[in-house]
Amino acid sequence: MKIQEYVDSKLHSSFKIGGQFRYFTEVLDKEDLSEASIFAKSKNIPIIAIGEGSNFIFSDKVLEVLAIKIKIKGFEIIPARAGGKEDGNEVLIKVGAGEIFDEIIKKTIDENLAGFETLSAIPGTIGATPIQNVGAYGSEVKDFITSVEVFDLNSNTFTSISNDDCKFGYRDSVFKNEAKRRYVITTVSFKLKKVEDNTSLLQKREEITNTRWSKLPKPNEIPNVGSFFKNPIISNETADKIKIDFPEAKFFPIDENHTKIPAGWLIENAGLKGKSFGKIAVYGKNALVLINNGGATDDDLLKAKDEIVKIVKEKFGITLEQEPEIV
Ligand SMILES: Cc1cc2nc3c(=O)[nH]c(=O)nc-3n(C[C@H](O)[C@H](O)[C@H](O)COP(=O)(O)OP(=O)(O)OC[C@H]3O[C@@H](n4cnc5c(N)ncnc54)[C@H](O)[C@@H]3O)c2cc1C
Repeated sequence: MKIQEYVDSKLHSSFKIGGQFRYFTEVLDKEDLSEASIFAKSKNIPIIAIGEGSNFIFSDKVLEVLAIKIKIKGFEIIPARAGGKEDGNEVLIKVGAGEIFDEIIKKTIDENLAGFETLSAIPGTIGATPIQNVGAYGSEVKDFITSVEVFDLNSNTFTSISNDDCKFGYRDSVFKNEAKRRYVITTVSFKLKKVEDNTSLLQKREEITNTRWSKLPKPNEIPNVGSFFKNPIISNETADKIKIDFPEAKFFPIDENHTKIPAGWLIENAGLKGKSFGKIAVYGKNALVLINNGGATDDDLLKAKDEIVKIVKEKFGITLEQEPEIV
């Protein structure tokens, strides 16, 4: 395993803000993880796992960490006799954390496996999907994950975490809370459904992919990390108050007392769509996305974010919460 020093962290974030990682290495297999852990302990620095950096923004400074880029590969359909096919047409697949999620979606559809099609075109790796319970169009990976295999940095051992123990929530999991940075995910197992014919899955995938890229900037053309804010969950009373002034607003009921309100709608109706805050801007086609117009610093981003949060709070009394991780 080759450890590099003072590596440009910008290159590892699709927002293209960053300074340097003090140490950086690529992890190709499980053995590399033990080695990386020993190295980080010897230097007394934390390990941060990175995938494609499509939900990660790094400080402009030198981060005193060992950044490990997860490149663990593998795609396995578990045969029925090994417990893969549970009942009827359910099939278990086990995928290496470094595989690209969208490539795996394509592969599963080619294998006549249904489930992932509405998650098409979400950037990033398989290993990052459980972290924020990646989701789109009413579907979330928690609906398919059976277990997550991890390397526990506390005990230097490999272990398996069940779906329940991942404590999935809306863009949330145990990996963002009490177990933050404790585990490096090595493989994720998913349960999908075998179908006779994949025509409708292919159609859905194409439709979703086209819709997404008509509303989202491609990170290699315009640096961004997708949705910058989570959709707030508010009380029905707050929603009712907003509806008085905005009867056309579309809200989504969560339970008897709560409603989800699109963060993009709030930002747009606070008059911020397309607005620039120095080198950071609210994307003109989708107010939920912040873009780097080139050369922005982490300070520029934090100031823009604070300003947006403040304006939305003043207008609607709702506090927006950021989705991507900033370190
Ligand atoms: C244009 C665009 C559209 C997007 N649309 C959506 C969307 O619709 N829905 C959605 O949910 N997200 C969306 N995202 C966000 C992003 O695609 C997901 O969060 C994705 O899972 C990030 O994957 P990554 O490999 O790039 O992770 P990174 O950005 O590299 O890392 C994200 C987090 O995961 C951790 N991590 C990564 N790999 C591992 C590992 N193996 N073990 C432990 N921790 C790990 C990192 O430490 C970090 O905390 C979008 C992003 C972009 C740029």
